[in-house]
Amino acid sequence: MKRLYGVTALDGLMRRGEELTDNVRAGIDELRDMHELSIAMNLVEVAESAARKAGATKVTALYLRIGALSAVVPDALRFSFEIAADGTILAGASLEIEELPVRVFCEHCAAEADLPNPQIFRCPTCQRPTGHMVQGRELELTSLEVA
Ligand SMILES: [Zn+2]
Repeated sequence: MKRLYGVTALDGLMRRGEELTDNVRAGIDELRDMHELSIAMNLVEVAESAARKAGATKVTALYLRIGALSAVVPDALRFSFEIAADGTILAGASLEIEELPVRVFCEHCAAEADLPNPQIFRCPTCQRPTGHMVQGRELELTSLEVA
């Protein structure tokens, strides 16, 4: 078992995911419009290619970082991933998801802080409004465990 790091950010791949859904197998037609399925299919494609490049024949775990404002629902992604991974070298792999809170930089406090509510952009320390987000939109595959 070994770990591959620095795999990819998936942000730019979501549009390609929409193309991929045209080729979704007939049995999962009803899921065609699910946003997370597109992402899961990209994930499988990217991870499979990275694993094969490293000479691996099986992926046992994927490590993801998902921001609170990434518009990805972790449970829906897990469900979609099982479907997308079926029959690939990723079948049965676990998704290890690190959920990241929205973090802002407050100029008044000259500090970064995590928002307790990702919809309310106010510094939790001084309550002043801030639009300076430093974390929260991540959608990254950071590493893979392969065999
Ligand atoms: Zn502040």
